[in-house]
Amino acid sequence: MSDAAADPSAIVSTVALTQRFGSTVAIDALDVCMRPGITGLVGANGAGKTTLLSALLGLRPPTSGSATVLGLDPRSQGAALRAKVGFAPERDVLPDEMRAVDFVRHLAQVRGLPRSEARTRSSDSLWLVGLGEERTRTLGTMSTGQRQRVKLAQAIASDPELVLLDEPTSGLDPTQRSEMLTLIGEISSEYSVSVVLSSHLLEEVERVCDHIVALDAGHLVADGPIEELIGDGDGITLELVDIAEPAGTVDVVESTLRLGGIEVERVGTTLRLGGSDPDELSDRVRDAVADAGARIRRLEARRRTLADLFEVSAV
Ligand code: ATP
Repeated sequence: MSDAAADPSAIVSTVALTQRFGSTVAIDALDVCMRPGITGLVGANGAGKTTLLSALLGLRPPTSGSATVLGLDPRSQGAALRAKVGFAPERDVLPDEMRAVDFVRHLAQVRGLPRSEARTRSSDSLWLVGLGEERTRTLGTMSTGQRQRVKLAQAIASDPELVLLDEPTSGLDPTQRSEMLTLIGEISSEYSVSVVLSSHLLEEVERVCDHIVALDAGHLVADGPIEELIGDGDGITLELVDIAEPAGTVDVVESTLRLGGIEVERVGTTLRLGGSDPDELSDRVRDAVADAGARIRRLEARRRTLADLFEVSAV
């Protein structure tokens, strides 16, 4: 776990941050540390992602604990902080009658940009998200995908150092999701903007993020660089066929491997084995299979994923 308070490279840190709503503990004594780059804030629905983002923006005072965002305290320096931090909420909050370019300009001005600069930047940011041609359309005439892009455009229009994006792919089809993630990645790297992207989809986070903060029912369950959390990613998936007595032989192989200290996860006749040296693991598997008189149908190395780490399947 990160020592959030002591890390000078942190762009966001929290110490024992807690938010209660009546008897619900939405976030519980969170110590998190986010560094420059793209951080995936991941967790199932209700895990506390939106509550954490709100606390980081200073939109609601926490029940206890503290947060620091870009060196500022959201409770006492909320206005200064919101001038440096862009935000796109999960909810669809776009006013239907307003033109996209006016909406983005208005919010850029609210965040402190002079009128003429806000006008230029609103136009630029709409071009950047691929809505240049559409910028004078009213928001009510736009598709879900276009509206998500408008939310992204307003988040980046005031030239922030950090943007907080709450479920930016919500409501999008797989192609649109992929395009949105690519766009977020490009904006972050080309403009050196750090991003905190909340999502309940592990594969999304894995694809675009450098770090993750994972929440479960308000508790922190993981915090760190994705590569470090997944490890060097080696593992073997083994599928066996035992002609004579399928279940029995798989049992024998499974227990031999377990007794040999190998991590084994079993799904039907498939054994998923954890290990950092695929060649060594493969040899031991072949020996165990031969001793049991079984036959291997498929033996393949596969990279570990965040879904393996959390033992949940991505939705
Ligand atoms: P989702 O992806 O569904 O938005 P989330 O991870 O963002 O989920 P939160 O919206 O932060 O989760 O909610 C965390 C918990 O706090 C939930 O149990 C939710 O019902 C509760 N909660 C959030 N806001 C409030 C509120 N204003 N009043 C009462 N309970 C709330």
